[in-house]
Amino acid sequence: MDFNDSPEEAGFRQQVCTWLRDHAHDYVIGGDHADVPKFIAKARAWQRKKAEQGYAAIRWPKAEGGLEGSPMQEVIFQDEEARHELPVGPFVTIGTQMAVPTIRTHGTPEQIEQFTQPTLRGDLLWCQLFSEPAAGSDLANVRTRAIKQGNEWVINGQKVWTSWAHVADWGILLARTDSEATKHKGLTFFIVDMRSPGIDVRPIRQISGVSEFNEVFLTDLRIPDCYRVGEVGDGWKCAITTLMNERINIGGESQALPTVSELIKQVERQLGQQDKFKIAQLLTQEMGLRYFRYRLLTSLSKGETPGPIAAMSKLVYTNTLQQLSALGLDAIGLDGLQQPNEKFQHGYEWSAALRIAGGTDEILRNQIAERVLGLPGEIRVDKNIPFSQCR
Ligand SMILES: Cc1cc2nc3c(=O)[nH]c(=O)nc-3n(C[C@H](O)[C@H](O)[C@H](O)COP(=O)(O)OP(=O)(O)OC[C@H]3O[C@@H](n4cnc5c(N)ncnc54)[C@H](O)[C@@H]3O)c2cc1C
Repeated sequence: MDFNDSPEEAGFRQQVCTWLRDHAHDYVIGGDHADVPKFIAKARAWQRKKAEQGYAAIRWPKAEGGLEGSPMQEVIFQDEEARHELPVGPFVTIGTQMAVPTIRTHGTPEQIEQFTQPTLRGDLLWCQLFSEPAAGSDLANVRTRAIKQGNEWVINGQKVWTSWAHVADWGILLARTDSEATKHKGLTFFIVDMRSPGIDVRPIRQISGVSEFNEVFLTDLRIPDCYRVGEVGDGWKCAITTLMNERINIGGESQALPTVSELIKQVERQLGQQDKFKIAQLLTQEMGLRYFRYRLLTSLSKGETPGPIAAMSKLVYTNTLQQLSALGLDAIGLDGLQQPNEKFQHGYEWSAALRIAGGTDEILRNQIAERVLGLPGEIRVDKNIPFSQCR
């Protein structure tokens, strides 16, 4: 029950709760986290279960597997799903919320047909092959080359920080097709079968012992031209669509991450005046974000592109998460360090990663300053010269 719900929304929430109560238990993660193949198999199965019911694409037309629902209904589903320990995460959402929306916006009818439904059903998992050792914040600096040979593109280069590439079936790839064009104009966007010869995925072992990221080496990889998305040289436009969707989707409800109401429960007995002010501020941010996200989702479902304002949601969410997690950790004290799955600890660690992934705080602030507030732009000496002349 959420007291902000209209009667229709309350009805939908009830329907979702009943469905989750009847079905979610078979898919709960339990101890499966460490066993990656088992965990991923469960994630695919849960995605399929949701797709069968229309919950995998609530805002989409019924004919395409959706429910023709509202952005609010989508948020309600995410809220309620987050109450169960289910295998949802980037291994699924890179496909459903980043690759597929980009293909649906810029792809050919054949690409949309081939990839939409299998991704929605969890048959296809995706990774995002954008970042490189010298192209992170400055993503347009991509140096992976794609050279046309007949009806194929031959790809050579290296990607890094590629989340879940080790389990992905397909990838979305940004590569340079013209070094004589300016930095942003010489890029092209491709879809790549991750089982193709010429792809070497090397997991990066993290400090926690797990490997969620990879380096991906591409050597004479061949991609048929039918897997080019958009026009040659229009890759930047496609990548922006992917990044906008990524930014909107960072900040949805997640069972693994703490909220302000959980913080209040945690600190209730030892609240000082300062804490009260801080918590009131965090609660305001959390509520503001929630309503801001509804607006973004509404504009997306009307076919509009929120563009650079999507950066605001991600920037405020990740900082709020880090601040509230830090307060929660302070309240728990040293005991928290002994509980590996402690939510505030997880929120604190993960918020640091989220403040980098999909655009760092500094880059988002630059974007908001320049493209939302209209402040003078950063000096960019490489903007109007051929990429081959950029250092
Ligand atoms: C959890 C996680 C998951 C990720 N998953 C993927 C993935 O699946 N696929 C993928 O392609 N990439 C992925 N990445 C990579 C991510 O997109 C990059 O890490 C990010 O864009 C920053 O790039 P960088 O790490 O190269 O840092 P750099 O670009 O080297 O930046 C270093 C520092 O300099 C600052 N800085 C840089 N330029 C400016 C500027 N102009 N003004 C002010 N400050 C600046 C940055 O804010 C940052 O603090 C992931 C990263 C993380 C943390």
